[in-house]
Amino acid sequence: MPSAEHPELKFESQYIAAKFIDPSGQMVEKPIEIRTHPITGRNSRIAFSRINEKEAGIDSLPPAPPDADKTSKCPFCRPQVTSKTPQLHPDLSGDGRMIQGDSLLFPNLFPYGSYSAVSLFNNEHFVEIGKASVSSYADSFINSSRYLKRVLHHDPQAVYMAITQNHLPSAGGSLVHPHLQINADRLQGNHHRFLLQKANEFHCQNGNYLLSSYLNHEKTEALRYIGTTGSWEWMAAFAPESFFEIWGILPAIMSFQEVTAGDWQDLAEGVINIQRFYRSICRNGYNLGLLSVETPSSNLELRVVIVVRSNYAPWVRSDYTGYEIMLGDMATFVAPEQTAEWARPFFGVKD
Ligand SMILES: [Zn+2]
Repeated sequence: MPSAEHPELKFESQYIAAKFIDPSGQMVEKPIEIRTHPITGRNSRIAFSRINEKEAGIDSLPPAPPDADKTSKCPFCRPQVTSKTPQLHPDLSGDGRMIQGDSLLFPNLFPYGSYSAVSLFNNEHFVEIGKASVSSYADSFINSSRYLKRVLHHDPQAVYMAITQNHLPSAGGSLVHPHLQINADRLQGNHHRFLLQKANEFHCQNGNYLLSSYLNHEKTEALRYIGTTGSWEWMAAFAPESFFEIWGILPAIMSFQEVTAGDWQDLAEGVINIQRFYRSICRNGYNLGLLSVETPSSNLELRVVIVVRSNYAPWVRSDYTGYEIMLGDMATFVAPEQTAEWARPFFGVKD
């Protein structure tokens, strides 16, 4: 249904059922909910029956990865980090690498774009999900934003920026040593293009910001809203495009350059809270992403998206099946309202 405050945002869902005779001979109907994403328009399916399926690898938090103690072979561990990792171009830094607290930032040896960097949290080689310090994340975010500020100063057209994280190989991480990836380019990613267009159209049509309006609806309805960490507001995504998808919105802030040190600290606190929630449901792999378009005309507010990925453990199946890849409809098993209920205690909210 349309949002009462913002009718142009539609929170639509439909219920369907699959009917068949189950192995015991009973006629059954298995419900499936199909939600339409208010921003992207894409479908998201919630296949409730699969929540009862015995899935491998989630009875308990999986053990540490096999290379969790192989610090001498890790290019991100000290002392070899200074000889095994590249240094920044002199146009960006005269020191080769950037330091903020214990965070160390250097170029990505295997870049995905024109400005592609890695920001370590600290010298800890393996950190279990939910066990990192808030300050280590705050330092790494601040280091990333300082790097992006230098990129923008050096190349004002490289406005399409992203800070991402792949925690453990099941989420795409190639090294277990925790780190963020930072990217900036003159060319936009698909999500940059789509979100910027939507945010600007929305603002042009009614004068409101897209993500603030989405947030207002979610706070009013209160079904998926989780809580705050300082300036950031957290909620389970209405139409999830991955498992246990949670959004953090920093209202009315469009640019990384407007984010204060306190805001980065607040973001770090929320990210660790979500990691603690994921840990509580025995998940050890996740992705994080925060995009910005650094142009004065952008109406795209900052939003971090955090999702669970398949556990990194032997014989765990991928969370992306032929259904997601070939039909383009994400299928999850838990209603976002349930996700929010489970996550709230990690934000100090009692139901
Ligand atoms: Zn390491």
